[in-house]
Amino acid sequence: MSLKDKLNQVTRRDFLKGVSAVGATAAVYGCGGSGDGGKTYMEEDEENRLTPPAITETVVAGAAPHNCGGRCVTKAYVKDGVIKRFVTDETPDLNIVNGESEDLPQMRACIRCRSNTQRFYRNDRVLYPLKQTGERGDVNGFVRISWEEVATEIAAKLTSLKALYGAKSFSAHYASGDGSEVAGAASCASRLLNIMGGQMTYRNDYSWPSLEHTSWFFFGQNFYFPPGKSRQDAFNSDALFIWSGNFAESIWGTNTAWYIQQIKEKGTKVFVIDGRVSQTVVSHASEHIAVVPGTDAALVQAIMHELIVNTWNTDGSLKADPWLDAEFILRYTHGFFDDEAFTLYPAIAKTYHADVDRSTDYIVPDGSSLSAYIMGTDDRLVQAGLNGDVSVYPSQIGYNNYNADDPNDNLKDALVSVYGKVAKTPEWAESICGIPAAKIRELAEIFAKKKVTLWFGGGFQRQSEGEQLPLNGYTLGVITKNFGEPGRHVGVYTDRQPLSFGVTFPTGTNNAYADFTGIYDLSKLTAPDYTPAVTRSSYPVFLWPDIAKYGGTGKSMWNDGQVKNFPTPMKAILNFGGNCLVNQCGDYNTVSGIIKDRNNVELIVTADQFMTASAKFSDYVLPAATAFEKEGACSGWLAGDALICMNKAVEPLGEALPDYDIVAKIADKLGVLSEYTEGKTVDDWRKEAIEPLLTAYNAGMTYDEWKEKGLFHMDSSYGITDPLAAYRTDPHVGALYTPTGKFEIYSQAMVEDYEARFYDNDDARVTLEGPLHDGKTTGKFVYAIPMVIPMLEGSFADGSAADPQGYKTNYPYCLNGWHIYYRSHSTHSNNAYINEVFKKDADGNSAYLDPERELGEVWDNNVYEPIWINPADAVAEGILTGDRVIVESPRGSIYATAVVTQRVRAGWPAMGQGGWANGDNADGKPDIGGAINVLTKLRPSRICQGMTLGADTRINIRKG
Ligand code: SF4
Repeated sequence: MSLKDKLNQVTRRDFLKGVSAVGATAAVYGCGGSGDGGKTYMEEDEENRLTPPAITETVVAGAAPHNCGGRCVTKAYVKDGVIKRFVTDETPDLNIVNGESEDLPQMRACIRCRSNTQRFYRNDRVLYPLKQTGERGDVNGFVRISWEEVATEIAAKLTSLKALYGAKSFSAHYASGDGSEVAGAASCASRLLNIMGGQMTYRNDYSWPSLEHTSWFFFGQNFYFPPGKSRQDAFNSDALFIWSGNFAESIWGTNTAWYIQQIKEKGTKVFVIDGRVSQTVVSHASEHIAVVPGTDAALVQAIMHELIVNTWNTDGSLKADPWLDAEFILRYTHGFFDDEAFTLYPAIAKTYHADVDRSTDYIVPDGSSLSAYIMGTDDRLVQAGLNGDVSVYPSQIGYNNYNADDPNDNLKDALVSVYGKVAKTPEWAESICGIPAAKIRELAEIFAKKKVTLWFGGGFQRQSEGEQLPLNGYTLGVITKNFGEPGRHVGVYTDRQPLSFGVTFPTGTNNAYADFTGIYDLSKLTAPDYTPAVTRSSYPVFLWPDIAKYGGTGKSMWNDGQVKNFPTPMKAILNFGGNCLVNQCGDYNTVSGIIKDRNNVELIVTADQFMTASAKFSDYVLPAATAFEKEGACSGWLAGDALICMNKAVEPLGEALPDYDIVAKIADKLGVLSEYTEGKTVDDWRKEAIEPLLTAYNAGMTYDEWKEKGLFHMDSSYGITDPLAAYRTDPHVGALYTPTGKFEIYSQAMVEDYEARFYDNDDARVTLEGPLHDGKTTGKFVYAIPMVIPMLEGSFADGSAADPQGYKTNYPYCLNGWHIYYRSHSTHSNNAYINEVFKKDADGNSAYLDPERELGEVWDNNVYEPIWINPADAVAEGILTGDRVIVESPRGSIYATAVVTQRVRAGWPAMGQGGWANGDNADGKPDIGGAINVLTKLRPSRICQGMTLGADTRINIRKG
């Protein structure tokens, strides 16, 4: 029986009508019955949808945060214990440009939170604890079970697994569906596991692994994320570059799009660099730089090449109006120029960290600096006395992340171009990145002569060479002096104060952490005190399926040194508030195969509101309360300048419980209830977290006043935050936490960290023309400088492709995935209001209005996610808008509905990520759920082993 059939079996017609779902025993799923005149909540909502009810009764301030990128004020209009409608911040909407306000816009909610009644009261909410009695993934195998039974069984299984494998085999799974920062779903699960003795620890998140990893080495170990400067400072810039950021859709802090518009209207030119005509391009760009996805590193290196040739003549002499300042670069950065023990510029060569021997350690040998690589065989910097030699780098690079167990994985033998001897001129870059050489020169002049703010999004780094663009981009910012002063910045943004994620909920001490010291070889590090500790006892989160399959066996799916040395299998997963188990993690079919095998992970517990694609693969599914059915708090995501109270507006439906209470039930059976709760309610924990913040930030309100108002929002009196200002003011006093104390463009530490994670970094097939810091001339898989390396499954502007796996013939297109604005990752995938607008069936009808379709139903054999296709590709394939197409990759296939549009480049169709896979693909059929992760791969990125799901997927498209 399909999921759709299963759902139909328990819809309002044949299950409950006009009674509370509580007490029902026959059905697997719940029903949002209201008990009001025989109508379900959904039916009532249906009647109200065209005429919103007047607000006459209780309005409860709150928020429904998930991983949307925003944190907005959402208020529930509650009548007779039912949320009838969501409203939002109604404070006057003041405008900076016309002088009404200096700052402080509304915290206004978008279509997602404002359509939550549809989601909260859907017929298919999970309202009872469920137990899988069959194979994982079989929706028919679930049976209803009592809270008493489920807590007892889970506690017993955890206890036996701990006895057999230790607490180190447990994992509180990566999850981002519940954005409550007090007693959020995943943190409650993590607290329980730590009380039980600990757990294995992941690092990074799915979204930004390369931004994070490179930040630790470029900016220093105290920058877990690239530096965040108050976005209000961009008003002081001549130019704002939004690089691979689509903040009109992915939000990245409530009101970021509002600020961008105000910044533009005040006179700052806004450049948006994106491979697609995104909503941000449409709404906010002064100029769109339409780079071919994944080729941004070539664009940046060509800009840097242009900066160099406008500074030094071919004989090494300085030009009259130089675009770069060598002394500045040497003062603040390490490795842009060769640096043999500071013999070149002794006057400004300072020893920042006394315990690093700068005469032998952290040298940049002749021809190994980034500028040498950029210039290739052009020797003007050698003649200028800045470099000791021209580029020593090779023309090819190999791969270290191959699957040794897969005889068909040819990547082990592959080499692709790394352009070691090529001058990275604008003409060279044009054929790769698609930006005309003249435009590249124009951009270089802006960076040389203007005050620039450079905000990075995350799209460009979600690919197999994801580390290269952040490193190149950071470098472009700092060598052009764009950091640490008003109107100048490189990194990301925050708001007035970095309150983002500032609310804490104690998850306790992980006593299993010490069990993982064997997955890192500290002896590889030259300066461990200035090298990030975060990689030493943790694993990259994207590799969890590798650990689920191979943990404790000495093997790795991707030749990963830490997985090979992992001391334990992964035996228990608590998946609270997340859909990353199979849907959001890449290569759905491979991962679901790993998860189905109970010899791998023996216990999977999911707490959620719906039978998501991941919940289906769990042993137990526990009904979790929604955001307005529990207490919580949130602080504003990335650009947080607010503390938002999440008040409980209504009682949870059915037998649903807040995650804190769900975990308490299991803790009780484990005999650790008092340790878990410490006798506190969620409101007690919240008060402990919030009160000090209200005091520290002089909020001018008590805790109770904050709860009633629902919001503390910082105004302009809180000033501007600039984490690089101290360094810019005095690089000696404000030295960075890197081994050299400077921005590390040549990061020996990053290479040593890679080798400390048990990677053999020598590639004997390749020879360099001079030694690197380790004295060797053997080629490497990971070099210390940012390079230009083609994506595994990408293509260039001229139509060529590295194609080391030979996929291009059968899969001629490249898929560009993005965070589409009608979902928050996979949250809201079953929101029928939203699907009504954005999804069509094979006949071109709305997903929701089809009279034959059950109210609120979205899983349907005829309803598909849209895929954007360039007209040239559509003509080539005989596809028209509205056609049902089959999209297939080397890993699986899905159905989609064609939307023919100029907003995507020829050869690069695009789909929003987050649709729920329905599992049909496992039977060899195209998946109807529109989950692009049926198509994407599990192979991690080169250096940090991060996710590669964004724009690095070869596909074919055909009518079907
Ligand atoms: S979905 Fe996110 S951005 Fe939209 S209203 Fe909710 S919190 Fe704000």
